[in-house]
Formats: sequence, C-alpha cells, structure tokens
Amino acid sequence: MLKSSISRRLTIYSLVLIILPLLICSIYMVDYFYKINIQDKTSSLENQAKTVAAISHIYFEKKDNADMSLLQAISSDTGLRITLVNTSGEVVYDSSHDSESMDNHEDRPEIQNALHTGIGSSIRHSDTLQKNLLYVAVPVYDNGVLLGVSRTSLSITPLEKSYDSMRNNILFIFFAVTIIAISIGMILTRRFTNPIKQMTLDAQKIINGDLSTRMRINTADELEFLAAAINKLTSRLLRKINDSQAKAHTLSLILDNMDNAVILLNENGLITEANKQAKDMFKITPDIIKTYSINFIGNTVISDTAKTCAQENKNKKITLRIKLGATEKTFIVFFAPFTSETKQSIVCVFHDISLMQEITDRQNIFVANAAHELSTPLTSIKGFSETLLDSDLTEAETSRHFLKIIYEESCRMQYLVKNLLQLAKLNSNDYKKQVATTNIDCTDALKKIIKTMTPFLEQKGQFFETNFSSENLVIKANPDLFTQIFINLIENAVKYSPDKGKLLLACSRDKDKAVFTIKDNGVGIAKTDIPFIFDRFYRSDKSRARQDIGGSGIGLSLVKFLVELFSGKIFASSELNKGTTFTIIFPLQRNIDS
Ligand code: ADP
Repeated sequence: MLKSSISRRLTIYSLVLIILPLLICSIYMVDYFYKINIQDKTSSLENQAKTVAAISHIYFEKKDNADMSLLQAISSDTGLRITLVNTSGEVVYDSSHDSESMDNHEDRPEIQNALHTGIGSSIRHSDTLQKNLLYVAVPVYDNGVLLGVSRTSLSITPLEKSYDSMRNNILFIFFAVTIIAISIGMILTRRFTNPIKQMTLDAQKIINGDLSTRMRINTADELEFLAAAINKLTSRLLRKINDSQAKAHTLSLILDNMDNAVILLNENGLITEANKQAKDMFKITPDIIKTYSINFIGNTVISDTAKTCAQENKNKKITLRIKLGATEKTFIVFFAPFTSETKQSIVCVFHDISLMQEITDRQNIFVANAAHELSTPLTSIKGFSETLLDSDLTEAETSRHFLKIIYEESCRMQYLVKNLLQLAKLNSNDYKKQVATTNIDCTDALKKIIKTMTPFLEQKGQFFETNFSSENLVIKANPDLFTQIFINLIENAVKYSPDKGKLLLACSRDKDKAVFTIKDNGVGIAKTDIPFIFDRFYRSDKSRARQDIGGSGIGLSLVKFLVELFSGKIFASSELNKGTTFTIIFPLQRNIDS
C-alpha cells in the first residue's frame, strides 16, 4: 500500500511553498508596521519630553506653590501624560494623577535609563492608568545640575487596536489565500495526477494478465510519451507470450503425440509433469503430480538413477522391466538433467521396447524350437543311416524298415521346412500385396473342402457333420489360402481325435460377419495351453512324445496368420478329452444379398 499519494504530497509541497512565505511575510509586515509606529511615537514623545524638560526645571525648585497650569495645558492640548520625577524617584507632577498618592518611580526602566544614558523609553502597563503606555523620559538640568526626569507618555491602545485590526485582516487574508491555494492546488494536482492514476490502474490490469489493455493518455508531455512506451512494451510482451504459448502448445502436442512416455522430476524425485502417454501408461492422476515420488510406478532404480543423474549432472540410460497391470513391459529410460529458474529437474523419457524385446525373445525361442524340431528327425536319420552302413544289408526286411523311417523323417523335415518357408514368404510385405483376393461363396468353398478331405477322415473311420447357413454368405479372400486354413484345422481335428470320431463343420451369419466353426470330439487342449497354441512350434504335448501323430507345431500359427491376412479373427475353446472348437470370423462382403 502507498503511504502517501502523489496528489497529497504535491498539494502539501505547493501549500508549504505558497503559505510559508506568505505567513513569514505577513508576520514580518505586521511586526514592521508596529515597530515603525512605536519608533515614530517614541521620537515624537522624545521631542515633547525634551520640550517639557526645557521648561520644567522651575517645577522642581518651587514644588509646592508652582503653577502647573502650563504643563496642564500642554497635556490637555497634546493628549500627553506628563510626569516629573525628581532624582530620588518621587513624582513631582503628573498630569493624569495626583502626584502625592503616586509611589516612588525610581525603579521605572525609562527613569533609570534617562538618569544613566540621557534618554529612556519603555512600553509598560501603567498600574496607575491600567493600560499600556509608551513612556519616554529625559533628564532635567538647571545650570548643569540634574534635577530629575521629565517623562512624557502616551497610551498605545489606539496603536494596539490598529495593530490588532491589521493582524486580523492579514490573518483573514492569509486564511482566505490558504483556502484558495489549497483548492487551486488540489485541482491542479488532480489534473496532473489523474493521468498517473489512470496509468497506474492500466498497469495493474496489465500485471493481472490483461495484456490487451492500452494506456490512452493525451497530456502532450512526458507522461504521454511514457504511456506510449508502456503500450509498446505490452504489445511486445503479448507477442512474446503468444509466441511462447504457441511454442509450448506445439511442444505439448509433440510430447502428447509421441510414442514415448515423458516424465519430469524435481530435485527431490517428485513427479512435476507428465505427458499423455506417461499419464495413461503409469496411471498418473493430477493428485499424484507434485506429491508422489517416481518410485510410485514401481521401481526404485528409476529414482536412484535420477538422483545420480542430478548429482553428476550427466545423462543416464537404463533398461527397465516393470509390471504394468497384468503385462510386463521393457523400457529403455533416458535421464537428462537440466536447470530452470535455479531449480534442477530431470527429464525421463521412457522408450517402450517391449515389442522389440518380445520379438527378440520370440526369435530366440523360434531358433531354439526350429533347431529342436529339425534335430529330432536328423538324429533319427543319422542313427538309422549309421546302422544301415554298419550292417551288411543282408536282412532286406530290416533294411527296408530302416529306410522307411529315414524316408518318413526326411518327409517330416521337408514338411517343416516347407511350412517355415511359406510362413516366411507370407510374412514379407511384397507377397502380402501380391496375394490376389476374390469373392468366395462360403458354403460352396466348404463343400469342396469336405469333398477333398472326406477320404482322409475315412482312413480313421471319422465323418463330417455340417450345419451351413441357408444365406448366401460371401467373403473376400484368396481361394487357395482360404482352403488351406480349413485343411490345416481339419487335419489337426483328425489327428487329435480318436478313430470313428465326428467332426462338425458349420457356417452362419452374425450381423455383418461370417462365422465358421470346426468342432471335434478329440483329446482337447488344456486351458493353460490355449493362449499359446497359435505360437510357432508350440505343442500342447510338451514331451513331444506323440511323434506318431506327426506335426511340427507351426500349422496353427500359419492358420492364424492367413485368417488375419483376410481381416478375420480366430478363437479356440477346448476341454480335455471332450474336444476342441475353433471359431473363425470373417467380415462379409457388403453388397451381397442375404
Ligand atoms: P502340429 O503340427 O503339432 O499339429 P499345430 O500348430 O497345428 O501343430 O498345433 C499346435 C498344437 O495345438 C498341437 O501340437 C496340439 O497340441 C494342439 N492342437 C491343435 N489342434 C488340436 C485339436 N483339434 N485337438 C487337440 N489339440 C490340438
């Protein structure tokens, strides 16, 4: 708060400047007038006292029988009071009072001065006349002998009255001038300070953030210049703020739209900012910001690294594996220290490499599985070939048996390599683009597949049961690859079902989708295995003891791949020893009549 406003100070200063000299001047003038008058009166009284002294020596000598009529006449003509005092202080004559009854006047200052210096004057209250008098006394000599003192005195009441009247007039003028000066001073000060007040209000608005405020001052002086300068400054500030807001907006857009989670930590490891990805990924809510440490996302390694990064003022990088909900994620976390407004902060960028990690893991598993799958038949081939080489080949039947095994194992390897090659081929983007698709009538296509596969089922005494929709269901796919999907699934159903089993093949419509079902009553798949059966080389029978059944563990992964190639989805449900059901959903072609 301001202790004193400019207008008040200006008013006080101008009043002091005007009134103080005026006051001093007035006091001086009144005093000067009074003194001049007293001086004038004193010199006239002095002359009169001297005149009286010149004629009054006779009254000292013939005190008792002197004729005082002359002095009385002078007194009544001039209005003077004439007093004669002898050297002992006794009053010889007084024109206004009986001299007999008057006390000794020796101690009167004018008498003393007259006796010692030749003239004396004083202004005193006369106890005799009860009013202020101006006294002038001169010594009276007769042939050089001091007889006493002749004193003339005059009432100064008229002088005092005129002095009082003059003082009152001057005081009145002084107060009138003061009031007028205050009024004019206030008006003028206001005229001067009003633009300043307006500028202060405008400046306050600008401080409060209203940068559209402009000062409109038309005083044609330095204030107008100052207002114009402030206006320019505000415009520049607004431009700068808009620029930095636009930059901040762009930056936050970039941050929010980048794949990486970005978190800002303060020097205590508290989360101060987070981009959208970080908030979504680590469930960072507004109440967490500035209250929770980075440890809250589940790992102290992050806060430890952030601390080291801040202490050493060096960038750091760590690989982090954390559980987010049900899934485990792998991140490379980059830490960079920076200082803003004297506070140290650390920016943490979480680069999600979970997919890459999974791909690497899968590649490793794939290589291990491929090696394992190939090594099993190779071991058989090598073993039986060695046995044949060591034998003399005389036992034709045994040799034929071994050769048959070698042939079957090489067929297995060929089948495996063929499947792997097909998968690799389908995986390439170029091939995907080349796959020609056409409209396929689902019922017709399934009927053809049944016709092809029936002999295969009959080898195990199995048979098909069908349930096809009466609607004309058409999907878009490559006919050969569509057929391969079903052949693979039917081969599996036959493989993993007992002799004389039944295989249901159904096709129906669900809104804009075609739904296919392949259901067998075979060995089934354990619930824990179902999520993995579409993985390459995965077999629910871990012991891989069912070599007689054959298979490589990549049939289903090929099926899933083909289904997804034509924008479909595949699900499996199963119960051990009861059977397995595969459900495939493809989008229906729109312009086909039902
Ligand atoms: P494979 O060539 O070994 O059959 P797949 O990828 O076709 O490989 O199948 C993966 C695994 O899924 C199989 O090893 C088998 O354990 C299980 N499986 C697939 N289809 C069936 C089914 N119809 N009934 C029971 N198990 C099945």
